[in-house]
Amino acid sequence: MLKERLLERFSPDALDDAVRQKQDQFAGLLTEEAALRVLAHEAGFIQPPDDVAYAPLQSAQPGQLLSARVRVLAVFAPKRFATAERSGRLCKIRVADSSLSADVVLWNSDVDFASTLCRNDVLLLKDVSVKVLQPLELHCRLSSELRVVSATDADAALPTASVPQRRLDELSEGTEADVVARLAEKQPLKEFQRQGKTGYLSKIKLSDGTADLWAACWDENAHAAQKLSVGDAVKLEGAVLKNGELSVSWSGRLCPAPVDHGLGAVAETPCKSLADLDGSDAVVDVRVDKVVDAQRVHKCRSCGSKSPEKKAVCVCGSEDFSSLTYASLELSDASGRFRGVLFDAAAVAFLGAKAGTDLNLLSQLKRDYLAGKNVKLLAYAKSGRTGQKEIVGKAVLS
Ligand SMILES: [Zn+2]
Repeated sequence: MLKERLLERFSPDALDDAVRQKQDQFAGLLTEEAALRVLAHEAGFIQPPDDVAYAPLQSAQPGQLLSARVRVLAVFAPKRFATAERSGRLCKIRVADSSLSADVVLWNSDVDFASTLCRNDVLLLKDVSVKVLQPLELHCRLSSELRVVSATDADAALPTASVPQRRLDELSEGTEADVVARLAEKQPLKEFQRQGKTGYLSKIKLSDGTADLWAACWDENAHAAQKLSVGDAVKLEGAVLKNGELSVSWSGRLCPAPVDHGLGAVAETPCKSLADLDGSDAVVDVRVDKVVDAQRVHKCRSCGSKSPEKKAVCVCGSEDFSSLTYASLELSDASGRFRGVLFDAAAVAFLGAKAGTDLNLLSQLKRDYLAGKNVKLLAYAKSGRTGQKEIVGKAVLS
């Protein structure tokens, strides 16, 4: 139904593109349905229905379906649950009107909608079910509708969240705050066991131009952090500074692609020196000293031997091959000179290759042109076959 209405404004192809863009913007966290809702909201034609009577939260009766106009005070990190009967995701939102505050629980695909919400949004709740009275807990059902609307003068009566937004250099130990910054580095996802359950941790380094700070993102927030790329703007709601590091646990939330983040000129992603680069992703600004070679090779999945020609059967007898593109380089910056390698899309982008180009030939033709050029790479370091440090470029940034 929503799609039909959007098709009055978009051609079918344009709508598909817009949905995909919206999903990219939210780092793949949106389902198609949620993306359509965001688009409809942006197109300005989701209006609060006229025939709904909004009631104060205080008037809620057990078992009743309630409709209310509220302010979003906090969006908690989504959680996964599994019981004998069912499994899925849930997300809790704390809301309030001038009479009372309440927790709204969203289930499964509705959780995607929560990732589009921000603190202090004005939200219309239609037909949410009253589950518990004290403290008031409302559940979304199939027939429930949630809509973000623009605040009107009358909404000034709604309470606002007490959590302030702060710059990274303004944070004080133990105090909850919202921050907006760019991702400067990202460590790999860590999995651990805690009280018989699997937990996840992802550490990201943030920079907003006033300071650099590591943030520990836990569980669902860790998964959301892994979807970010170095240089992305990100908002952390309800982050707490603990021992000089931000923590975003269950009461906090990582919002990808914050709107109006105001970071434009403030935070250029800082570069790391090649000597300091380790296993975490970071941006490096390097000189290409030499293009050694580039190839598209076929690698035997069984014994690992590589060959530029596609053979039907490997010397080991296996017929299972994968194809791999690489460009082998020598890179340097003020900190030293290192072997570097780009794989697949990064290698193709670096050489400016088109589909079907002979990469080996292209690398020879462009060798002199590329030598001495400076390039920004998203990269990490690993130990090469002979034990020396090797720079792996994941993407060419400039
Ligand atoms: Zn083989």
